[in-house]
Amino acid sequence: MSAARPTPGRLTVLSGPSGVGKGTVIEAIRRKYPEIWVSVSVTTRSARRGEIPGQTYHFIDGLDFDDLIARGELLEWAAYTGRRYGTPRVPVEEMLASGRPALLEIDLDGARQIRHELRDTQLVFLAPPTWEELVRRLTGRGSDSDEQVAKRLARARDEMDAAAEFDVVLVNDDVDRVADELAKLIL
Ligand code: 5GP
Repeated sequence: MSAARPTPGRLTVLSGPSGVGKGTVIEAIRRKYPEIWVSVSVTTRSARRGEIPGQTYHFIDGLDFDDLIARGELLEWAAYTGRRYGTPRVPVEEMLASGRPALLEIDLDGARQIRHELRDTQLVFLAPPTWEELVRRLTGRGSDSDEQVAKRLARARDEMDAAAEFDVVLVNDDVDRVADELAKLIL
């Protein structure tokens, strides 16, 4: 695992298993480092309590998602536990062209697609302190059905196995520290 230092205006991808706390780290990045632009994905899943349309995600239906794919408007997309998620292409390309560092929070499939398309991308993997801690966080979330939690846990195992594909691994034992470390890698 060698960490290729990106120049400003390059892309960083944050990935890691569901429940590891990517969303919380991203929130801290938005709050503490407004100079980092964070992509807002589109998804066909419905909003959880507290999620703000257009800020957390753009929540769209399956037909609109099909349309975005057909028009080539997604930089990458993946199906995740029966729902689809994708990164709108134009805003990312505009940010990179303007020289502003851009951050994507996406799943493993998406990270692999981006690595293939944009080789200069820095790939960061967020890992839980322990597997038990991840299980605790995923089952304790309360917002997903038992079936969704089971799917997410199965997927999380595969995602944990892929950590070695990433340039850098950060362990999420303290959100603020991890956000600072991530920002240092990006800026
Ligand atoms: P959640 O439903 O928990 O918000 O997200 C589920 C998974 O989808 C997470 O692993 C998250 O990183 C991933 N995800 C969110 N947005 C995107 C995206 O635009 N593309 C891909 N490939 N994955 C995404």
